[in-house]
Amino acid sequence: MKKRIAILGSTGSIGTQALEVVDQHPDRFEVEVLTAFNNANLLISQAIQFKPNTIVIGDENQYEKVFDAVDKYDIKVYAGQEAVEQIVSMDTIDMVLVALVGFSGLKPTIAAINAKKQIALANKECLVVAGELITKLVNENRVHLIPIDSEHSAIYQCIMGENPESIEKVILTASGGPFRELSMEELQKVTKEDALNHPTWNMGSKITIDSASLMNKGLEVIEAKWLFGINPEQIEVVIHPQSIIHSIVQFTDGSMKAQMSLPDMRMPIQFAIAYPERLASDFPRFNFIKHNTLTFETPDLKKFRNLALAFEALKMGGNIPCVLNAANEVVVQAFLDKKIGFVQMPEIIEKCISKADFISRPSLDDYIDTNLEARKVARSIIENVT
Ligand code: MG
Repeated sequence: MKKRIAILGSTGSIGTQALEVVDQHPDRFEVEVLTAFNNANLLISQAIQFKPNTIVIGDENQYEKVFDAVDKYDIKVYAGQEAVEQIVSMDTIDMVLVALVGFSGLKPTIAAINAKKQIALANKECLVVAGELITKLVNENRVHLIPIDSEHSAIYQCIMGENPESIEKVILTASGGPFRELSMEELQKVTKEDALNHPTWNMGSKITIDSASLMNKGLEVIEAKWLFGINPEQIEVVIHPQSIIHSIVQFTDGSMKAQMSLPDMRMPIQFAIAYPERLASDFPRFNFIKHNTLTFETPDLKKFRNLALAFEALKMGGNIPCVLNAANEVVVQAFLDKKIGFVQMPEIIEKCISKADFISRPSLDDYIDTNLEARKVARSIIENVT
């Protein structure tokens, strides 16, 4: 039996690489649904190649264009953000791969869990924002949620077959991004173009900026807490510029397990969608002799304040990680639009956290309100500084 997959966000970096993996294993996977935010041309060509049952274009203005282009292939077409949320409960879907960017991933992920679909999760923001709620729904609905984030895929692989109680510590590795060696002064002058030039991973622009500012690692710390049921004190971050060791788990007997490979997102994508099987691949192999230096450093929390802010937000709990995430999405966009500088991003996020109303046990509606409010606050701070 083939696994029937819905890919939410099929035209992005993870979505296109997921389709590459699917294309390599036509006997194992079938594409049932593809959704895209506004890249109609790529969605159309993916639909013609993979012949899904249904496609959704988020931008309603492009509905007719998409409909006309796939009309003769017997593919159903819907438009709008709500259609993405509704489509995941289709009977013929076995697994939903969530590759949406930012807060937009939250509602479709919740809908897919409630529909009892297996989840391959590339959207870390929804665990950052609502980790407690999502973990609860995953347990209630007895679904598997397999992370695609390379660090969390690594941890997932390291703890397979282990007793969760025997986890002493999780060590998340970070490439350190392109600005690792810059001074604070140099950091003030970096541009969007400098930031988008990531040394080891090929990713979308939001996550590439997050990697350069170490917010990506901060979000991953929060993600790890919820995925693996561990405390902030059990999570350590180590800079490992070569991105060969994807993360490490240390057990209560002092033994450590690491998961390694050349950095290639197709690896965790394939692991997640094939789970619980491990499929063969022809991805390039790691060679110790060619890569004979693996190095490790402590992250500089003064230069990269975002990582410290994420740890603080996690310890504060409640709706504060949601504030951190919302403020971050706004400042990253402002940095991409060249409205603010690189070092202003953590300053604005910190202000947003200090201005937020604390809610200790937020409901889904509280998260939605918190998200909107934090964005408003972040935008008004940006307007006042520019
Ligand atoms: Mg990652």
